[in-house]
Amino acid sequence: MTFSCRVGCGACCIAPSITTPFRDMPHGKRAGERCVHLDATNRCLLFGHPDRPRFCVDLKPQLSMCGENDAEAMAILTSLERATNPHETP
Ligand code: SF4
Ligand code: SF4
Repeated sequence: MTFSCRVGCGACCIAPSITTPFRDMPHGKRAGERCVHLDATNRCLLFGHPDRPRFCVDLKPQLSMCGENDAEAMAILTSLERATNPHETP
């Protein structure tokens, strides 16, 4: 079954840390920090652009990550971040 991104969610552009530098974020992105490329409607301004980080390209929407709603996605991704990066999470 295919699972599509819930447009306007944006949880995976806020909750996870991105450890590699990318355009306009020379130190990467801290966990819980809003990506500068996320617009006011929570859409990625770099979607389809070669400067979009590999982390984002590789992250595929799936129920186990995105949950049933935006709040659930944020909770799941925050908890995954804590589990994988316990010292980086504020
Ligand atoms: S967490 Fe899932 S639904 Fe939310 S923006 Fe990311 S891919 Fe889309
Ligand atoms: S580059 Fe786009 S997909 Fe990646 S975190 Fe930023 S807004 Fe989200």
